Amino acid sequence: MENLEKNIKTLPKIGDKTEKKLEKMGIKTINDLIFHFPFRYEKYEFCENLGKIKINTAINLKVKIDLIRNKRSFRKKMTISEAIVSDDHGSLEVIWFNQPFISKTLKNGDMVSLAGKIMANNGRLIMASPIYEKINQYSEPIHTKGIVPIYNLTSGLTQKQLRFFIKKISPNFLKITEYLPKETLERQSLININLATEKIHFPKKDDDIEKASEYFKFLELFLFQLKSYFLKKELETKRAEKLEIKLNEIKKFILSLPFELTDDQKKSSWEILKDIEKNNPMSRLLQGDVGSGKTIVALIAILNCLLNKKQAIFMAPTEILATQHYKTALKLLEKYNFKIALLSSQKKESNFELLSKNKKDIQQIICQQADLIIGTHSLISENIHFKNLSLVVIDEQHRFGVSQRQEILKKNLDDNKKETTPHFLSMTATPIPRSLSLVLFNGSKLSSIKTKPKNRLDIKTEIVSTERKNKMYEFINQEIKNGRQAFIICPLIEEIENSEIKSVKEEYQKLKKNIFPEIEMSILHGKMKATEKEQIMSDFLANKIKIIISTSVIEVGIDVPNATIMLIEGAERFGLAQLHQFRGRVGRGEYQSYCFLSLSETKNDTPFFDKKINYSKSTSRLEALKKYQNGLDLAKIDLKNRGSGNIYGKIQSGFTNFKFASIFDYETIKKSRDEIELLSQSDPNFEKYPLLLKKITKNIEETHLE
Ligand code: ADP
Ligand code: MG
Repeated sequence: MENLEKNIKTLPKIGDKTEKKLEKMGIKTINDLIFHFPFRYEKYEFCENLGKIKINTAINLKVKIDLIRNKRSFRKKMTISEAIVSDDHGSLEVIWFNQPFISKTLKNGDMVSLAGKIMANNGRLIMASPIYEKINQYSEPIHTKGIVPIYNLTSGLTQKQLRFFIKKISPNFLKITEYLPKETLERQSLININLATEKIHFPKKDDDIEKASEYFKFLELFLFQLKSYFLKKELETKRAEKLEIKLNEIKKFILSLPFELTDDQKKSSWEILKDIEKNNPMSRLLQGDVGSGKTIVALIAILNCLLNKKQAIFMAPTEILATQHYKTALKLLEKYNFKIALLSSQKKESNFELLSKNKKDIQQIICQQADLIIGTHSLISENIHFKNLSLVVIDEQHRFGVSQRQEILKKNLDDNKKETTPHFLSMTATPIPRSLSLVLFNGSKLSSIKTKPKNRLDIKTEIVSTERKNKMYEFINQEIKNGRQAFIICPLIEEIENSEIKSVKEEYQKLKKNIFPEIEMSILHGKMKATEKEQIMSDFLANKIKIIISTSVIEVGIDVPNATIMLIEGAERFGLAQLHQFRGRVGRGEYQSYCFLSLSETKNDTPFFDKKINYSKSTSRLEALKKYQNGLDLAKIDLKNRGSGNIYGKIQSGFTNFKFASIFDYETIKKSRDEIELLSQSDPNFEKYPLLLKKITKNIEETHLE
């Protein structure tokens, strides 16, 4: 057995190329590979023999190849591999499309294990495009039988390869060291980490997945809360700058806004102002559904900080959003003559003349001079010193701010006043039940904006089938003629990275050519240069561009009140929480807005059959979106729908950083909290558990601050 920190290159069949691909997914060591967990499973019911086959169900067969050959279908322009397979009870026809190498891999007389569905076509039974693997009497199939793990991939890697690698290193599962105290495992009747890892990669039955998930769920929540436990302890020893409430100025500012604040906005602002007036550092979470108006609340807190002649920073998860906040701040705070700057890895801009033009430490110079710095999350991960930073606001905080809070504590942000730490506000649209927030966030307080600004109409949401797409396009055309604008989101392609960008480009071509030749459209994706993205967003805001065709980068925060159409292609591939976020990009102004959920076109990879993909499950999920406008309701349904076989995946991402746990796991949250309390009674610094301490510090360092 190997050392877990050993490079994956030391494994058989991993050469330079494969190593690069794995590295792309963050897998460098054996340990990384071990913790690359499947995000769902495929299930193939074992079928003893060809006399017992079931039609249209995912089954596994063990058969012999009697005959295999390729033929060209000129009409369909493809290669078809046909095979006859048999066992003692009968024989069966199998076909594959456009995989000519199959007839080289599989030979007459080979024993194979096949997984897939058998279909009936005019009385003939055919298994189309099954997954296959050669077997012999000593080997058990790993790709085709029982519960088969499905992993996230990068292009050029296959499920089979990844499974093979993980199987190879599986003896190492025994070497993983347990983080949780033994007594905790016993008290909570949890299996240990070694067994949990084995079960998560190679479950034999549903219960294995269940048991493993229970373990990891507990571990995630335990670590999360242990972090907040230490954070709270540390914060209790810290001091913050007192920011006096400049009531008159704040009132004037609120009166100058183009709208009246909602009651919840007023209440939240007040809660924050009262907090930062004290000299113990605030840790507050501002929660409000998409479009509820969180930004203005943050700006009120920021204004108060600046009026106290102290610095503030405002961070967003994407460049696009940071730029948007910068523009809003410039506009709303115009008359105060504050020095405001935008800082991200690609962009540096300010509304004031910099005293020095030395490009090298421009960040440093900006942070010494500006009153308000707006940027991406990377702002705090860099080693920057501030003048007198007293308030930090983080927008769209899916990670709940514990790690970032810690980061800020650790950083020597303020040169002059090393003994103070900034007040901290994080904002999220993730719905959090109040009862839970108290348990989960330990030291943090919660403000919620529950009601949306008055004048808002519900967003009309519709599921659009392929047949009705043209009608929908006509409608969009009409809306644009009326002066409105639209977003089109391209499908998420689950397992392979960068494919989204391709689909955005293709969608653009298609629409430009066939549907909206006259309309100004632009594409947008995460890999574009910041300046390019910004140009597109500002053209869109100025209504010069009518349609933006985008990957999910548009997901968070963007605010364009004139946009009334959100069309999501391949909607069945997204999770409800994410769809809700997309939908939140419209309905932000006075106009009636629409959200169209378009289903993927059925890709017929089996041209001989009328293969109807079963959409009923996904449409029932999408129906929920029609029915509910509220994020909390949708989050609950999303969770119910995770269903069996789907432990997590891209579908869940963006909602929380937990993979197994969720904020609705009240029982486990409570149990892990109780454990921490119990353990801390005799050992408040967890000195008996150095591994645990190491894990949470490591975790903090590893947190990606995008
Ligand atoms: P989110 O909570 O999703 O971040 P934003 O802060 O972006 O929402 O606000 C959404 C839109 O609503 C913005 O255009 C903002 O100017 C506007 N807005 C905020 N508060 C109100 C209000 N009380 N009345 C009307 N419009 C508002
Ligand atoms: Mg926002």
